[in-house]
Amino acid sequence: MINNKIAIKVNRVSQSRVKEIDWENLSFGREFSDHMLEMNFENGKWQTPEIKPFGELKMHPAMSAIHYGQSIFEGMKASRSGDKEILLFRPDMNAERFRESSERMCMPTIAIDDFVDMIRKLVEIDSEWVPKANGYSLYIRPFLFATDEFIGIKPSNNYKFLIFTCPVGVYYSEPVNVKIEEFYTRASLGGVGGAKTAGNYAASLYPAKKGNEQGFDQLLWTDGIEHKYIEESGTMNIVFEIDGKLITPAEDTDTILKGITKRSVVEVAGHLNIPMEERKITVEEVVTALREGRVTDAFGAGTAATIAPIAKIGFRDELFEIPKDSPRASSSEIRQFLQDVKDGTIEDIFNWMVKV
Ligand SMILES: *Cc1c(COP(=O)(O)O)cnc(C)c1O
Repeated sequence: MINNKIAIKVNRVSQSRVKEIDWENLSFGREFSDHMLEMNFENGKWQTPEIKPFGELKMHPAMSAIHYGQSIFEGMKASRSGDKEILLFRPDMNAERFRESSERMCMPTIAIDDFVDMIRKLVEIDSEWVPKANGYSLYIRPFLFATDEFIGIKPSNNYKFLIFTCPVGVYYSEPVNVKIEEFYTRASLGGVGGAKTAGNYAASLYPAKKGNEQGFDQLLWTDGIEHKYIEESGTMNIVFEIDGKLITPAEDTDTILKGITKRSVVEVAGHLNIPMEERKITVEEVVTALREGRVTDAFGAGTAATIAPIAKIGFRDELFEIPKDSPRASSSEIRQFLQDVKDGTIEDIFNWMVKV
């Protein structure tokens, strides 16, 4: 049992649906565990959170979030160490980022410990939903949105915080093809690109659709002023291997979402003595290195896939391919390290994992 500091009401389902799940064929984000957690912000304060059966919400047609977009989310995972413990990967970092997103969007914040405790309690109650197969995990989606029931642009007085979870399989993705985007912009200085807020993803759908029509799976966003610097991929941060060294854009701008996977990649690279730099990267530098065959690996870093290899990179009329025989040794080593920490098969030297 967890000794929560925050009091949580629990209303369990009478009959679990866990036996109905086809564990061999889990698709991402389509199966939902028995319970969800709900906590409302009313009269200027958070009300008692309640864990209740997963189900539909009622909403008022004038509900603020769907009109004006005051809505933020997080994405994180729980996994099993062997057959015993259930572990969360760096939940404090998600809690901290959620707090930062809340502040940027004028929403009430949740204390770090309370955020983590609510997740631990929900995952404990639905522990049967954490997949047992290696590499599988329970995806956790905390989110917060404005619930005022009137038309008017101002920060809402009322909010709803929810957490639900989804058992997910190994996110096996074919290497992806990305396009360096030089017209559309994901984020601008002083904007909300650094917050995990809903509108960022809506705004990227149209440019992404244009990219899809040209055969690209995803875009590689560049800075919104000159389209001169590489930023990120929109759901993943980006890492290149150039001249044998890993390079990722510095986070000294509010236009790049500070990814927990990317931060972990940097820290693991340091531990494994893999050379890695975090600094500004120009499109010019990457394209020149691609032309000269000096880019031996490129990958996205994000919670869903952890490390997603990139096959081809498009720039204007050129299409570059990471050589198929590239060993991608550094990223493989880092991916394995992260997997082993999550599965509890190596010592958690960074103290990243939090027991449920
Ligand atoms: C969530 C997200 C990422 C990846 O962050 P992780 O914490 O590693 O999952 C990268 N870019 C954007 C825009 C994101 O929303």
